[in-house]
Amino acid sequence: MKLTIVPQPKQMDFYGNIIDVSAFFNHEAQLFLQNRDKRLTYHAKRLCSALIEKENVYHGFHLVFGGGEEQIQKNSFEKCQQYIDAYRLDVNAQGILISAASPQGLFYGIITLERMREQYGCRLPAVSIFDYASVKVRCDYWDLRSIHPLFEKLLANIPVIAGCKLNAIVVEYEDKLRIGEPFCIENQTFSFSPQQFEQMKERCALWFLELIPLRQTFGHLEYVLKDPRFSSLRETPSAVGEMCPCKAQAAEVARALVQNMAKRHPESHYIHIGCDEVWSLGTCKQCAESGKSRVQLFIEFVNQVIEAAAEQGKTPLLWHDMFEHATEEELATMRYFPLTVVLYRQEFFSSSDERGSLENKYLEVKNTLQQVEPEMKRVLAPFLSDYSIQQYMRSRFLVEELLLKQAEGYLSQKE
Ligand SMILES: [Zn+2]
Repeated sequence: MKLTIVPQPKQMDFYGNIIDVSAFFNHEAQLFLQNRDKRLTYHAKRLCSALIEKENVYHGFHLVFGGGEEQIQKNSFEKCQQYIDAYRLDVNAQGILISAASPQGLFYGIITLERMREQYGCRLPAVSIFDYASVKVRCDYWDLRSIHPLFEKLLANIPVIAGCKLNAIVVEYEDKLRIGEPFCIENQTFSFSPQQFEQMKERCALWFLELIPLRQTFGHLEYVLKDPRFSSLRETPSAVGEMCPCKAQAAEVARALVQNMAKRHPESHYIHIGCDEVWSLGTCKQCAESGKSRVQLFIEFVNQVIEAAAEQGKTPLLWHDMFEHATEEELATMRYFPLTVVLYRQEFFSSSDERGSLENKYLEVKNTLQQVEPEMKRVLAPFLSDYSIQQYMRSRFLVEELLLKQAEGYLSQKE
């Protein structure tokens, strides 16, 4: 038996019988919280007509429909502590119980129950589910450089993303979020108003999504380098979006861009610094005379940007394409490699491409996603009228937990 849920829960034991749960949902549900969390109150209330909240009665986080409070003690939710965002969900003749060791876990249990009710109505299969996430950071990617969804569509997309148990959105704002001094750049037509920006952040927080700002700092800098004040920093006059790392002010500009963005997102743990597709790198006279290779030029500059992100207390992320062909020796000069690597999803999905150990690390994630992909397309289709599913799926990527742990280790060493 399978549930129409993205992604499929890790363990499901079906007992073969069907439970009529209408009586459970017509009574008050009980929410037991180790610590108060108004997000959980909000999501529990979405599923029931009335809710009783109790704090500090039990360890952990629990939501009970019908009877079954006594099951909290028996329920081995302690196992949840060993996994990322784990929860247990039991549907039986006594009632429905969701238990977790973290607020996130309970939230994802609530999402699973919601999906089951959509699928089965009031006649749920008796089941015991134990589920957890394979990776710690599960991202969607909003590329607002060239796509301008209606603000209402962006807001509507947030519960969809969270409903697929992703827990972060990388947002590439470009000029859609005002960039303050010394840049003073803002897209007059499409940028977020201060109220919209706050509303989006609040909505993400409510749905357990971390907003990870993406601020390009090397290539794709058209929004900065088209300005006559900064155009002399281009690698070549015709490369409107690419900065030359040898220009005196380049590192300073990149640093200011990172600082500016970090301050707009005090709550985020990460900042994505872009750094992909700097095609013209190394072609100017200054770069040529430096005697350094393209990879050397790239890594020396990126190290400074990473440093700027770390100074702001953020774990830096960047695209990997500019150093994917670098030699071991060259990579060794990047003090932080592979601490900050993010692989494009479409790249780590290409079977013809040999990427050695990095590829292997992603195999489990790859297999998991391949299984759920057709279902994910079905679920997301109604929300994607603005742009194609393929484009949307291509832009999705995941950050591998191990690499992030190493990155966090790097940051803590700096303290
Ligand atoms: Zn140059």
